Amino acid sequence: MDSITQPVTPDFSSTSFIYFDLDDTLIDHKKAQDRAMVDVWTQYPLLQKVEPLVFASEYAASNHRLWEAYRNNEVSQHELRRLRLEETFNRLNISSLDWREVDKVYMDCYSRHWDWIPEAREAFIRISEHYPVGIMTNGFTFVQKKKFEHFSLNRYTRHLIISEEAGHLKPDTRIFDFAAEKAGCRPGELLYVGDSYSSDVTGGARSGWKTAWFNRSGLNPEPNLADFAFSDYGQLLGSLQKTMQSEAR
Ligand SMILES: [Mg+2]
Repeated sequence: MDSITQPVTPDFSSTSFIYFDLDDTLIDHKKAQDRAMVDVWTQYPLLQKVEPLVFASEYAASNHRLWEAYRNNEVSQHELRRLRLEETFNRLNISSLDWREVDKVYMDCYSRHWDWIPEAREAFIRISEHYPVGIMTNGFTFVQKKKFEHFSLNRYTRHLIISEEAGHLKPDTRIFDFAAEKAGCRPGELLYVGDSYSSDVTGGARSGWKTAWFNRSGLNPEPNLADFAFSDYGQLLGSLQKTMQSEAR
């Protein structure tokens, strides 16, 4: 199915449970990461041989590559946290910084910049009033649990699923199966809302779930496995409106 044949109003009438991705779907992880890296840059004059955004994007590139390796069980969580900083320092020819210290500063700064994606909070709460909802996220348990607490997510959700606890990372279908079992639903009754085509749409579609892709960058994969794509939350609410109205009490 390509984007031209994608239905304008998808059929979500069989949906009885909705899981959301967390980072960059509900919470603006990328902005928090970039801002935290600029804070780190400000605290360490050694890093200031390059512009702050260059430093932040060098880190983001290493982090992205190492997350792939972590997903494939090629590095541990500890190695990921060490290597994403050490690689960045090496590229800048800096050998005298202790990655553990910088990692701690980064984690503190990162959590201070957490914020919702625009309109996501209102839409998420509204959807949670009509459907049972959950969160399913790839991430470190100690970080994601702090986010759940910070944003009071357990107030709205039935299940909070973290890859580290489930033992598999998206797009592995086993984490989708695990989430389906928790929800007590068949795959066709589940909708997954997420921003990553490779993790969320591919994993969801392979698991037999419906998917709503938060495609903020206007990507156009071929084929496009998403049942629905949206770039602002009003569109997602619109796609569910018919079902939400018929369920209104
Ligand atoms: Mg995401």
